[in-house]
Amino acid sequence: MRQSNLFTKTNKKPPADEDSKNATLLRQAGFIHKEAAGVYSFLPLGKRVRDNIEEIIREEMDAVGGQELDLTALQDQNLWQQTDRWSDEAIDVWFKTALKNGTEMGLATTHEEPIPNMLTHHAESYRDFPVAVYQFQTKFRNELRAKAGIMRGREFLMKDLYSFSRTQKEHDDFYEKMKSAYKRIFARVGIGADTHYTYADGGSFSEFSHEFQTESEAGEDTIYLSTDDDLAVNEEVLSDDVLEKLNLDQDNLQETTAIEVGNIFPLGTKFSKPLGLTYTDKDGQDQPVIMGSYGIGVGRLMGAITEIKASEDNLLWPESVAPFEVHLLRLGDSEDVVAETRTVYKTLQGAGVSVLYDDRNASAGEKFADSDLYGLPFQVIVSEKTENKGKLEVTFRPNTEPAYLELSELIAKLANTQHE
Ligand code: ATP
Ligand code: MG
Repeated sequence: MRQSNLFTKTNKKPPADEDSKNATLLRQAGFIHKEAAGVYSFLPLGKRVRDNIEEIIREEMDAVGGQELDLTALQDQNLWQQTDRWSDEAIDVWFKTALKNGTEMGLATTHEEPIPNMLTHHAESYRDFPVAVYQFQTKFRNELRAKAGIMRGREFLMKDLYSFSRTQKEHDDFYEKMKSAYKRIFARVGIGADTHYTYADGGSFSEFSHEFQTESEAGEDTIYLSTDDDLAVNEEVLSDDVLEKLNLDQDNLQETTAIEVGNIFPLGTKFSKPLGLTYTDKDGQDQPVIMGSYGIGVGRLMGAITEIKASEDNLLWPESVAPFEVHLLRLGDSEDVVAETRTVYKTLQGAGVSVLYDDRNASAGEKFADSDLYGLPFQVIVSEKTENKGKLEVTFRPNTEPAYLELSELIAKLANTQHE
């Protein structure tokens, strides 16, 4: 992509009306646009990051046998009355909208009701189970506070997977698989070491649910971390009882703030019972289906990566999610430099490398400032200086010392650092 064609521009100054680092930097760099408090649009660079994250999640969901689908965001009030969750007391973040005929519909906060309801039309025999379905879908929540940038949106993209099992054992086995899949996702997007499996409230149907909490000052949750076991307990369930059960010693726990980037939740028959989702077993008897739900906020995760990796002033993207791998800067406009840079651009593209090519007639200072703000993994400079040595000046962020490489050496290096 030629930067002269990119319709978003960076701003010299960060916006003054954001409380979070993620929204401040992402807006300054033109990755996102603020529509209203807690409501953000994703611009080309931001969408590329979000798409990369989405693709990693999709691969891991497919790997555990998930089937992708797409439910509607408009939801039928009658359905939610069956589980007693239509009222604003039951769900305090509802957005509802009136139809012309005087009835109301809900804007999806979750699909825990529509999914099992839908399944009653498509699965009935023990042969139809177990099954796991997932989607990347817009959720709406009338959140009280929206100070965490894209980590707490009033409209946001969620990956939600729902599992349907015949027995508790079948459910438990799948739950373990999801736990591993989530660990792989957070490792692949570059925050594996900061993210901890955390015991949290299980609601009315099981003792615990589990969250994936990323240590960060920007987090809104408090967790107690056992570094030896690499697990944590959310303060909402911390008690002597729970510590004993998990074989943890309070003195060895570290209190820290963290971002809930994902969660997995055993639901038992909480929704399948009232919605009548059953299967007939081999003896022709009706049995209740056991459910689990598994969420990841895609924007929340992108915001968390930003919080962890970016400096106060500049973004920094892990290669796996970066909008482009290489930021190619042309410094100078002599015929030689222009021709050389174009060759590098074409050759990298030909080798399957994604490149943002700063082909603008701007000053070196401007180009460097933008390049630092964008924080792409590789910065490659072609200038009179490098031309003279016949080499490219390559900086692999967050390193600041450049290496001087032949084009072929750069391509080899890029192939080597591509993880996964
Ligand atoms: P929180 O306690 O942070 O409000 P939650 O318990 O309401 O989260 P779930 O309803 O389980 O979260 O949603 C699943 C996932 O969706 C969360 O783990 C989080 O990653 C993400 N998520 C939740 N609310 C938001 C939001 N307002 N904006 C962006 N992502 C969100
Ligand atoms: Mg919430």
